[in-house]
Amino acid sequence: MAKFPEAIARLHQNVFVCKKCKTKIRSNIQKIMLGKISCRRCKSKNFRPIKKGK
Ligand SMILES: [Zn+2]
Repeated sequence: MAKFPEAIARLHQNVFVCKKCKTKIRSNIQKIMLGKISCRRCKSKNFRPIKKGK
């Protein structure tokens, strides 16, 4: 049985990885795109979706 593929996809889409220090941030894609989120370790605003990594 499929176990909530939509929920899983949503979870993964809401996780981003800092391009600089590889810190994982969980946030809205909208907030990321608006530049409202900055990495809590290096303050960078360069994120990529975690999907690419894995
Ligand atoms: Zn960072």
